[in-house]
Amino acid sequence: GDVLGILGGGQLGRMIAVEAARLGLVVHVFNDDPRSPAFEVAARATHARFTDTEALAEFAGGCAVVTYEFENVPVAAAEIVERHALLRPGARALATAQDRLVEKTFVADLGIPVAPFRAVDDLPSLEAALADLGRPAILKTRRFGYDGKGQVVIREGDDASAALDAIAHAPAILEGFVPFSAEISVVAARGPDGGMAVYDPCENRHEGGILARTSVPAAISAQAADEARAIASRIAAALDYVGVLAVEMFLVREGGSERLVVNEMAPRVHNSGHWTDIGAATSQFEQHVRAVCGWPLGDTARRAPRVVMDNLVGEDAHRWREILSDASAHLTLYGKGEARAGRKMGHVTRLSGGR
Ligand code: ATP
Ligand code: MG
Ligand code: MG
Repeated sequence: GDVLGILGGGQLGRMIAVEAARLGLVVHVFNDDPRSPAFEVAARATHARFTDTEALAEFAGGCAVVTYEFENVPVAAAEIVERHALLRPGARALATAQDRLVEKTFVADLGIPVAPFRAVDDLPSLEAALADLGRPAILKTRRFGYDGKGQVVIREGDDASAALDAIAHAPAILEGFVPFSAEISVVAARGPDGGMAVYDPCENRHEGGILARTSVPAAISAQAADEARAIASRIAAALDYVGVLAVEMFLVREGGSERLVVNEMAPRVHNSGHWTDIGAATSQFEQHVRAVCGWPLGDTARRAPRVVMDNLVGEDAHRWREILSDASAHLTLYGKGEARAGRKMGHVTRLSGGR
């Protein structure tokens, strides 16, 4: 069969690999960590650094298509891969999504609302940004943040230089605090021909900065849901995107009206799309494989009136036997071994009748 390459070896790569193998592809995973959940399900594995030009070229040369499962793949590595194979999504989507300043500027330039933001490089630029945006505000590193790491809320009376210390003086942005009433996301796929398949917007609840539960459909108006889908489609089209992407948004209720503000995007399959594993006619992992291979996109229809996905974080995973005994639960484990606190170990999806 054709070879699909995956850059990155976490649980997202693992779940893409399983679906790709089911569709007859040979999967080759490239990652810099020898203990990668995706290695264990891939037909081929390369353990090398993302700065190893030769290893990247050899890997890509053997692949028909290469994709990535995390946004911190260095752009230089993506550009090497692009010289030897089709890289989908391309290096531009990666470069845009891996830097919050570039990402927010890009989305705002499309005329899509984002939180007010300012670039922060030092104490004077932070003081100026705080004077502009007011408090509370959120200081976030431009790169490498996930699960709420690399960010700090600055409230009335908080010391600005302590906030810079908290993010180790990394290049950052300051964002105005959005008084949201719900967090939603849209998972969507775009094919090389520009065709889109968009899943129902879902509602996300975080605990300790980590996604805890995704519920579908989101409890928002049909108008807001349509607007959310349209925003994701516009972003995908503007990036000439190929594959699955996720766009996180805040829903703000003011007076009787609802307004959406884009928070961030992920140029890959996304945790808030895990509900599609049994909750939609086509899972996001199969959909991603279809999109990057240029195959027809699958049906995004929801399979039940309500779908709920719960992450198993840290010791939650010790409940796996109990979850398996529940006929209404569909369990996925990532094979990560030790259930350290804050580590995403698996997830469970349940379908139900009512809202
Ligand atoms: P992820 O794990 O989703 O990649 P992340 O570490 O990249 O998260 P964000 O999604 O930017 O970080 O922020 C984490 C959470 O912090 C958001 O889900 C939201 O609850 C809150 N948050 C972030 N930015 C803002 C904002 N401007 N106003 C209000 N709340 C915010
Ligand atoms: Mg993020
Ligand atoms: Mg986020």
